[in-house]
Amino acid sequence: MSFQRILGQDQPKRIIQNALVNNSVSHAYLFYGQESIGKKLTAVEFAKALNCEVSGPKDNCGDCPSCRKIDQGIHPDFFLLEPEKSSPAGRNAFIKVEEVRELQKKLAYLPYEAKIKVVIIDGAETMNPQAANTLLKTLEEPPSSTILILISANPYQLLPTIISRCQGVKFHLLSADLVKQILRQTDQIEAEGFSEKELDLRALRSMGRISRAMEEDFEATNKYREEILNLLEQASFKRMDVVFKWTKQWAKRSDKIQSVLDEMLNLLRDLAVIKSQGKNTEILNRDILHRLKPLAAQKSARTLLAMFDSALQTKSALMANANLQLSLDHMLIQFCEAA
Ligand SMILES: [Zn+2]
Repeated sequence: MSFQRILGQDQPKRIIQNALVNNSVSHAYLFYGQESIGKKLTAVEFAKALNCEVSGPKDNCGDCPSCRKIDQGIHPDFFLLEPEKSSPAGRNAFIKVEEVRELQKKLAYLPYEAKIKVVIIDGAETMNPQAANTLLKTLEEPPSSTILILISANPYQLLPTIISRCQGVKFHLLSADLVKQILRQTDQIEAEGFSEKELDLRALRSMGRISRAMEEDFEATNKYREEILNLLEQASFKRMDVVFKWTKQWAKRSDKIQSVLDEMLNLLRDLAVIKSQGKNTEILNRDILHRLKPLAAQKSARTLLAMFDSALQTKSALMANANLQLSLDHMLIQFCEAA
């Protein structure tokens, strides 16, 4: 295996392979972009290319002892830090300051067998301020023969001082065609025996994210979609009972609210496409077209746009830790005003 195993992401691959060929690799990188589009996979291939005993410098062989150990996560000079929950029941996962300190101790020594030590910090934004400040010292005075790759789907939650020490590499969402191609190569999908139609729908609804395409639970999706469509149909100052019921229900589900808002944005987007008489192929939820068309007819384009704006703002506010109940209340009042 090599960089070729990463489908799509041509620009990040080009940046990295140019640095490898020109011997201009930075001390620290920040790979950023949505969840599940190939950031970690690329970071691992990068680590292998830096240390491959056979190929190089542009790529790795995937088969030498160094490549194999990195793939298996047992190379003594390859470190992967990932957020962990403080307890099995804990809601959020973090990278703790102790883990960063432990890493720093290991980086103080010369590599055991590698040419270059590689540290991957996945979910870098989950470092608390103490952990982030500790890591900052390493970024300010990078140990010799060491490269750090920070990975984040929410880079704006990182300290600006950390971002400024890294070379940013943006990863893009994958096209539905690429998602489908990747799904076809996945054993899990093969085992499930999805029909061509279901593969199409999964790829289309994944919004370019592989994990979503693989794991989407259509039963749950259908339930969410139906609830959201009911809300969009009924939200008005005359039906505040519906509005309050919805807020009350979701204010307790902070773990699911981002997916619900994503679903809502997709549905509103589809309704706007139908309203503007766009092509059916542009509709993400085309399996429920019969349900979307009457609703699109019922709403004006202005209403749909106002609702979309409001849902998008709510999503951003919640990502920045705004109060869930208040944000949902505010969003639904805006829905009622737009209706
Ligand atoms: Zn190799």
